[in-house]
Amino acid sequence: MKLNIDKIRNDFPILSEKIRGKSLVYFDNGATSQKPKIVIDRMSDYYLHENSNVHRGVHYLSQIATDAMESSRERIRKYLNAESIEEVIFTKGTTEAINLVASSFGKAFINKGDEIVVTEMEHHANIVPWQMLCEEKSAVLRVVKIHDDGSLNMDSLAETLNEKTKLIAIAHISNVMGIINPIKEIIAMAHQKNIAVLIDGAQAVPHMTIDVQDLDCDFYIFSGHKMYAPMGIGILFGKKKYLDAMPPYQTGGEMIKKVSFEKTTFNDLPFKFEAGTPMVAEIIGLATAIDYMESIGIENIQQYENELLEYATEALLKLDGMRIIGTNTNKASVISFVLEDIHHYDAGSLLDQMGIAVRTGNHCAQPLMQCFGLSGTIRASFAFYNTKEEIDIMVKAIKKVQMMLS
Ligand code: PMP
Repeated sequence: MKLNIDKIRNDFPILSEKIRGKSLVYFDNGATSQKPKIVIDRMSDYYLHENSNVHRGVHYLSQIATDAMESSRERIRKYLNAESIEEVIFTKGTTEAINLVASSFGKAFINKGDEIVVTEMEHHANIVPWQMLCEEKSAVLRVVKIHDDGSLNMDSLAETLNEKTKLIAIAHISNVMGIINPIKEIIAMAHQKNIAVLIDGAQAVPHMTIDVQDLDCDFYIFSGHKMYAPMGIGILFGKKKYLDAMPPYQTGGEMIKKVSFEKTTFNDLPFKFEAGTPMVAEIIGLATAIDYMESIGIENIQQYENELLEYATEALLKLDGMRIIGTNTNKASVISFVLEDIHHYDAGSLLDQMGIAVRTGNHCAQPLMQCFGLSGTIRASFAFYNTKEEIDIMVKAIKKVQMMLS
C-alpha cells in the first residue's frame, strides 16, 4: 500500500516547525524519533483525567491508572508475541535494561573464567555493562569481528563460541551503519551450545515487527523513544526461565511481597524487576505508539523506508569525496558517511544552519570507529515521515558544504 505521506506528516506537529528560518529536515531518527500527536494527546489525557499511583490504591483513579498500565503491558506483549506478561518488564530504556540483565543475569549465571561475547559494532550501552561485569566476576569479554562492508563475520562468531561462553549480546541493527544482523541464525547457533542470547533491538523496533517466540531470543531489549513513543520507557523481554532464576536488580516498593527486618520476599514477575513508581504515562504512550505504527502498517513502513534508503544511497554516491560506512546491502534506513577532507562536525554544523538535523560523531560506538580508522561519521537516519524531497535538500546542502569547506 502506498503511504499518504502528507497525512502522516500532519500527525507529527514538530515537522512543521521552522528551524533557523528553514523548514525542518529531521534525519536524526536513529537518535530519537518524533512523536505523533496521538501519543502526545494520550499522555496528556492520562494526566488530565486518569493520573494516580498504580497497584496501590482501592480508589477509582488508582484502578483506572493500573488498568491503563497493565492493558498497555498486554498490548506490548501481544505486539512482541511474548508468551506471557510476566516476560515483559518496564525499564527506562535500552541502557537500563541491558544494565539490569548484566547485573542480575551476571549474579545468577556468570562465574570466574566464563566468557561473554559482543561484536565490534555494538553501541557503548551493549559493551560497557558487560565489561564491568567481566571485571567484577573475573570473566572474559570476547569480541566478534566484522567484515569491511560492515556485516558480521560469522566465521569469527563461530570461532569465538566455546564451552565457556555463557551469553552473546548483539545488536539486531547497527545504530551506525543500519546493518541488519542475522540474529535468528545466531540464536540457533548459540542455543546448540546452550548459550543465552541478548538482542539489543533499539534500532530494529522502529523498522520491523519482532516476534520473540519465532526468534527464540532469551532477552530482547529496546527503547520506546526511537519508535514514536516517549522517552523514559523501555522494554526488557526475558524468557521466564531466566527471569525466574535472576535476582532483583533494584529493590524497594512494588517489587516486594512481604518485608520485615528479618526477611523480605520478592514479588512475582514482572513486578520483581520493577522497583518504585513506574512511568505510567510513558507506558501508555508506548502502547499508543504501537497502535499508531500498526495503523500505518509495519510492512508499509518498511517498504517506504527502503525506498528512501535506496534513493538516498544512490544520490549520495554520486557526490565526489563521498564514502559510505557499511556498504552491505542488508540494511535499515540508516546511512553513515564521511566526506573527504571535511570534518564530520564541521559538516554537521553547516547542515544544521540549513535546517537539516543529522547526527555527527562516534555515535556511542568508538570501537566500531576504530575498525574503520575514523573519529566519527555523519549519519542520516530516515523515518516513514521523511520524503525524497528532503533527501534532495540534504544532497544539495552537502554539495554546498563541500564548496564552502574545500
Ligand atoms: N543500543 C543501540 C543500538 C542504540 O542505538 C541506542 C541508542 N542510541 C542504545 C543502545 C541506547 O539506548 P537508550 O539511550 O535509549 O538507552
